[in-house]
Amino acid sequence: RSDRRSPRRFLLKLSGEAFAGGGGLGVDPDVVHAMAREIAAVVRDGAEMALVIGGGNFFRGAELQTRGMDRARSDYMGMLGTVMNCLALQDFLEKEGIETRVQTAITMGQVAEPYIPLRAVRHLEKGRVVIFGAGMGMPYFSTDTTAAQRALEIHAQGLLMGKNGVDGVYDSDPKVNPDAVKFDALEYGEVITRDLKVADATAITLCRDNKLPILVFELLTPGNIARAVKGEKIGTLVSE
Ligand code: UDP
Repeated sequence: RSDRRSPRRFLLKLSGEAFAGGGGLGVDPDVVHAMAREIAAVVRDGAEMALVIGGGNFFRGAELQTRGMDRARSDYMGMLGTVMNCLALQDFLEKEGIETRVQTAITMGQVAEPYIPLRAVRHLEKGRVVIFGAGMGMPYFSTDTTAAQRALEIHAQGLLMGKNGVDGVYDSDPKVNPDAVKFDALEYGEVITRDLKVADATAITLCRDNKLPILVFELLTPGNIARAVKGEKIGTLVSE
């Protein structure tokens, strides 16, 4: 297998929060439909899209732990939540006429294929969208780290981090501080030393060690996924 990155292939990370719409919990089908339309459009234009989906709209292991639950068990609940998001997005992508496969890191044969990297690449080459669910299948990890790992393993050109309600990386939280300043570009090291909110540290180091560029951008702005795929100057680019 060649280690060359495929120029048209992208790994798009969708936060679970986005799936809830304004609701915070569960899935808002209208929002999922809108995301599916945007993703379908870039696939029709020839991009190969693999997706990693979060689960924060259902459960976050760390939060359940603070309420007295065992961390590993609550992390498994978190991972199962991501799969519901995957199925919702799969449904709307197929309604858009895009062939889709869900692959999960926790085996559940009735709903999804198991995670098989070489098969995922074959699906992408055939123009199918591959949706990776259940994170890495391991407690104490995040779907951000999963996104970085999957992007590397399938030789994606870059990691597109779609955020909900924020259009890039700022020096402080723009929802709290009106004077927060947005970065157009950042180096991996700055993200780590300044503890900037791009992704968790494990994900950032994985990208840094393998020189995988990350684009942080606002997910639900119409046309933004296409802009990200075309390499237009939106959001914040994290690279060497
Ligand atoms: N999770 C995990 N291992 C993984 C991926 C996810 O244990 O490899 C669990 C973890 O509890 C996490 C939850 O699944 O809080 C939901 O994922 P995440 O918080 O990354 O979702 P997002 O914030 O992107 O919606």
